[in-house]
Parts: sequence; structure tokens; C-alpha cells
Amino acid sequence: NRAKSDFLATMSHELRTPMNGMLGFTSLLLESPLNAEQMQFVRIIESSGNALLSILNDVLDFSKIEAGQMAVEMVEVDLSLTIKDVMSVLSPVAAAKGLAFSCDLAVVADHLVLGDPGRLRQVLLNIAGNAVKFTASGSVRVSASRMDGGFLRVSVIDTGIGIRADQQALLFQKFSQVDSAANRRFGGTGLGLAVSKRLVELMGGQIGVLSEEGRGAEFWFALPLVEAAVSERALPVEERLEMGVGSIEGVTRVLLVEDHPFNCMLAVRLLEKLHCRVDTAENGADALKLLNQGSYDLVFMDCHMPVMDGYETTKCIRQSIGASARIPIIALTASVMAEDRQRCVNAGMDDFLEKPIDFEKLRAVYLRWLEPQHGNETRREHKGSLDF
Ligand code: ADP
Repeated sequence: NRAKSDFLATMSHELRTPMNGMLGFTSLLLESPLNAEQMQFVRIIESSGNALLSILNDVLDFSKIEAGQMAVEMVEVDLSLTIKDVMSVLSPVAAAKGLAFSCDLAVVADHLVLGDPGRLRQVLLNIAGNAVKFTASGSVRVSASRMDGGFLRVSVIDTGIGIRADQQALLFQKFSQVDSAANRRFGGTGLGLAVSKRLVELMGGQIGVLSEEGRGAEFWFALPLVEAAVSERALPVEERLEMGVGSIEGVTRVLLVEDHPFNCMLAVRLLEKLHCRVDTAENGADALKLLNQGSYDLVFMDCHMPVMDGYETTKCIRQSIGASARIPIIALTASVMAEDRQRCVNAGMDDFLEKPIDFEKLRAVYLRWLEPQHGNETRREHKGSLDF
């Protein structure tokens, strides 16, 4: 298991690095003027790339679970936000198939559950994505109800092909697909539900299915409820982001440390979309020189680089005397295992962004480190040269 995990971590890193360039430039290409046929081709490249990435993520998640290395966060989660987010991702796909796609947020909006927000999004996206995938006509509906014993049950009900009773128990096992011919047509690895089951169980919940062949399916999961007044909740993410945007004055100066030329070019373009001024360094030693000469608000740091890697560079910055010693440093890396994250934290980095870079995540991280509490005043403190 150890050897397998090491192998997968290395493979994942090696696959993510070129995929970062492929998917990133595809998204930039889609924003440029293209004729209808070119647009169609680029969209196919994009969706094939995303499918490849989701297979890679499933395989990696499953190997982490098998090696007992999957860690889940346990925080209060507002599932109505998760549902809205997943609906916005899947609505265009459902609409293209002519399906009615709806959700009832009345119950869910009044309750918080305990779990890992990112992993819950993954579970819901998997079961709602399957519902849309295996339904040719009719509807897909997401709803929630309170269960006895202090659980919130979320279910996704479709009018699709359904599943035979004897096959239902097998679904949550790894690599199990009901009909391999159908799956060649629809795509998928048969890992999604196995991963979802393990994730929900790690959060102290349950997952299940009710179905009849040819008569649709209901996939549900239940999670422990948190009894809290709605008014006590934190602001929704969007509102916090809005506040962040409004508070940023002037141009942000970013130092990007990245050795891979394509990935460097991509990150520069994405950061420029956020109106940053970007300087680049292709290894840690060059980054230290630039930090010594100029003043920056934020550093994005690749981890594996020749000459001086990201971990060592961060340690040097943190050990330096001078205001910039506390500059926010965000890891930008294709190493996505829990221990890679820990290594970044141990080196003194503040945050972590995985490759392939998702523009919305980049934007969120960027805003997080320039929000009012980390914002203008603190930022000024970070400016200034480094004294080594
Ligand atoms: P996959 O990546 O193949 O979709 P999953 O583990 O998510 O892997 O699903 C396993 C299998 O369960 C699918 O291949 C399909 O046969 C069946 N399945 C899942 N959801 C549904 C559904 N809503 N309706 C019918 N069959 C489903």
C-alpha cells in the first residue's frame, strides 16, 4: 500500500503538470474570438480534459482511502450553498438534454450539517452528475428532509434508467458499473460512488439508493445536523468575496516563482486577469533576489524547482529579517497529497493551490489574502526589501 501510494502520488504530480498547461490554455482560448467549429473543438478538448482530471482525482482519492490517509474536515456546512453550486455546474448539461432540473431548498436552508464542504460538494456532484447522466428524459430533483436521530437527508431523484435490485448493493464497491456497454457510452470509472460512500462515512453519515429498473433512482446521503440559529451563521461565501473585491485598492504586485515555461506563462495570464502586476522567477534563488530588490504583496510559489525549491525558498524568506519576511506565500503545486500540504505548511507557506489551476479557486485564494483582515494595512507591512 505504501509503495502504491508513493507511485500514485508521483504519477499524479507528473500528469497534473502537463494538464495544467492543457486545461489552462484551453480556458483562455475559449475566451478568444473563435468561429463556431473551432469553438466546438475547443469545448471538446476542455470536456475531455476535465473527464481525464476527474478520473485521476477518483483514482488518487481511492488510493488515499485504501491507505488510510484520507482526512476530512469537520466544520459547519450550509448545504443550500453546496446544492446551488452543484446545480449551477450541472444545469447546462441537464438543459442540453431537455431535463427538468430542480431543487427544494426549504428544509436544507434552515439547517447546518457537520462535514467537509469540499468533499460534500464532490459527493453531491457525483450523485447528481450520475442522475443527469443516466436520465434521458423527464426530471432530476434535489430535495432534503430532517431524519429522526438528528440527521439531514439529501436526496437526488431521477426518472432515468434505474438499477436492478440485485445490482444496487454492488454500486458502492470500487470499479463497479451496472452495464459496461452503457458505461462505455456514458464514460466513468465506477469509482465515484465507492469514494462517495467512504467520504460520507468518514463524516459520520450514511449513503444509499432506492431504485427499480426502468423507473428511475433515488440516491441519498444523511449527515449529522448542527442545531444553530440561522442568524448566527457566517456570511455566505459570495458576500465575503464581494467585500474583498471592494476593498482592494491599486494594483497588486505578485511574485510568481515557477520553473516550467508553459505553466509560468499560464499563471501570468490568469493573474493578469485579476489585474495583478506579475514578476516571475524561475527558481528560488532568483526569487530571493527579486524580493530583495522590489516590494510585493503576494508570492505564488511552485514547490519542485531546480537550484532552490519552493520549500527551501520559503524557509529562507521566513528566516530573513525585514518586513517581507511575513509576505503571504501560496503554494502552487501539482503535488496534492495531504503530506504535500503539510510540507508546505511546515516550510512556512500560508495557503495551497493545486494544479491544474482552477481560475475561480485562484481568485478565491487571491481575495482571501487581500481581504480587509489581511488587507491594506497588513499588506503595507509586507512591503519592503528582505535582509538576509
Ligand atoms: P461512474 O464513474 O461509472 O459513474 P459511479 O461509481 O459514480 O461510477 O457509478 C457506478 C455505476 O452506478 C454507474 O456506472 C451506473 O451503472 C450506476 N448508476 C449510478 N447512478 C445511477 C443513476 N442515477 N441511475 C442509474 N444508474 C446509476
